[in-house]
Amino acid sequence: MLDTLVFDTQKPGPTLLVFGGVHGNEKCGTHAIARTVIELRSGIFGLKRGKLIMVPICNPEAYKRDIRYVETNLNRVIKKHPKILRYEHGLANELVTLIDSCDVLLDLHSYSSGRRPFLFLDNDTQEQKDFAAALNIPYWVTGWNEMYENEKDLLQGDTTTYAFSKGKMALLIECGLHEDPQSAIIGYKSLRATLAYHDMAEPFEKARGEPPTITRMKAMLVKTREGKFLKDWQHLDPVTKGMPILRYDDGMIYQSPVDGVILLPGKKARIGEEWVYFGVEGQ
Ligand SMILES: [Zn+2]
Repeated sequence: MLDTLVFDTQKPGPTLLVFGGVHGNEKCGTHAIARTVIELRSGIFGLKRGKLIMVPICNPEAYKRDIRYVETNLNRVIKKHPKILRYEHGLANELVTLIDSCDVLLDLHSYSSGRRPFLFLDNDTQEQKDFAAALNIPYWVTGWNEMYENEKDLLQGDTTTYAFSKGKMALLIECGLHEDPQSAIIGYKSLRATLAYHDMAEPFEKARGEPPTITRMKAMLVKTREGKFLKDWQHLDPVTKGMPILRYDDGMIYQSPVDGVILLPGKKARIGEEWVYFGVEGQ
């Protein structure tokens, strides 16, 4: 059973569910949740209404080994698995039961290249946009679902897609670099801003109200064979169409398919996984 922390005010209001450590090497959500628990228990801040459910480590075995996942990417198999064929399928079963019981999901992640926190905005309804705007995250990435619809062989099953399918509000925040202590602070502030937006607690800081920079995902490269990036690409680095991005070990060069930006270059991607994405600015 996953360790789950529940704070129930017993007053009518939304149920907010917060995930940390869906990927075992991404510790910012775990730290953000730990700080929240300590502060709630110490009375540093309190909940006004509703119920807060937090899972600080969604993939305990991967967390212990400081790896992304053990057998399969947990954030691609979020659904009910009648048969548990992989370690992560059992975790997914627990997580979907929790998602089914919540109104709002906040999923806290970190990434490997770059320093700018961003959030994934999909199913960009006005309700979702208003929620996202309350989080003070300067960069938004959209277009994830449309892109994956063209990549049928890749598993989609991420936490927010599942939550949307059940009529919940949900945001996934990429809080910053895995190793950067600032990522945990961004995670904590996002959690507090979510509580404030849903009127479950007083705000920790005021919303800045600055419009975000929005990038629409346009293309993704799946790693089919070994190769190396031609430079130390960072998330949101600008690229032009035809710019050499990486070289396969057989000598073939892969070029940028867009005039835009590079997204989430995965230096440690394994064969069969997403290696790098490309996007363009604007909605
Ligand atoms: Zn992640």
